[in-house]
Amino acid sequence: MLFKDVIGQKSIKEHLISMFREDRISHAQLFTGPEGAGLIPLALAFAQYVNCQNPGPEDSCGVCPECKKMSRLVHPDLHFVFPVINKGGHTPSVCNDFLSQWRQFVAQSPYFTKHEWSSFLNAERGQVRIFSREGNEIIKKLSFKAFEAKYKIMIIWQPEKMGKEAANRLLKILEEPPARTLFLLISDYPAGILPTILSRTQQLKIPKIDDESMVHALQETFQIPEEEAKSVARISRGNFVEARNIIKNSEEKQLFHSLFVSAMRNAYSGNLAAINEWVDKVALLPKEQLKNLLEYSIRILRESYIANFNIPELVYATPSENKFIENFKSFVNDRNVEQMVKEYELALAHIEQNGNNKLVLFDMSMQISGLFRVTNNLV
Ligand SMILES: [Zn+2]
Repeated sequence: MLFKDVIGQKSIKEHLISMFREDRISHAQLFTGPEGAGLIPLALAFAQYVNCQNPGPEDSCGVCPECKKMSRLVHPDLHFVFPVINKGGHTPSVCNDFLSQWRQFVAQSPYFTKHEWSSFLNAERGQVRIFSREGNEIIKKLSFKAFEAKYKIMIIWQPEKMGKEAANRLLKILEEPPARTLFLLISDYPAGILPTILSRTQQLKIPKIDDESMVHALQETFQIPEEEAKSVARISRGNFVEARNIIKNSEEKQLFHSLFVSAMRNAYSGNLAAINEWVDKVALLPKEQLKNLLEYSIRILRESYIANFNIPELVYATPSENKFIENFKSFVNDRNVEQMVKEYELALAHIEQNGNNKLVLFDMSMQISGLFRVTNNLV
């Protein structure tokens, strides 16, 4: 990873680079800071920089063999420790069992949360750990001389998740570090790390991402207008993962809104070809998204019904939804709302039980169209 691809953090980058150029790198560093601020991206960029064959004043060259292997996380002198799940079997899991998943996950985006990594591993809450066997693995990996690089690098994400045994092994090696070895510990919860390990590291406090850099990154990454980027930056408070989630959710909401509007238009017209087309399209959504769409539809139906009573504080909708609801509310009434919600809930339950999406959605659409037309005197 290049420093230029790390969002903001100008002074931290300068600090890391000058430390290297002045040859005063501490062999064990602890990057601490809030989630979503880019601790892992900074560690990856630093690891690449110190091993680059032609490091410039501001960044790695990006093209030398070291850079290329580092950027793909396949360099033989780059090692990782991170929490994993227990795969089962006789011996507890080690990070090497999950290395290809880890590379794939980081390649999607080096900005991620602990929660996202757990979900990626399909872990239940609190299940991920750094198991005791990892202690031996660390020693094994560091007992060889560097294969190719100037530094052997061990990046340890969430050292606070280490059990006592593994932590003691780590402590031992931190006390007597092999030559040209660099430990980069990354934690948003340093209070959970053994004090003896803490005292062996040099702490680097990484702040949240500044607003200006965040706005710039959001515009570049998501091609959104400046005004939107500014408002997302404000709400996400320097956390890039949070900002990305806000943008993804609003994109999803727009999709749901347009699918709901077309579903109601089809229900009104009773046009079978249009209903079929809608079903074909919606049936392809991933299961979770499909369920979210149905839940969204139930919410808008209820909001539209409530809107008939002119109690504005009861309606929790966005401006564009409100505009739609204003036009739509007269079609939702005592004679149909309950039954329509029931149809959606039924479809939701069937999809949850792995029913055939197309059949479930087609049946639901026909029922709703019938109800809609009868109760609005269209037939
Ligand atoms: Zn290079």
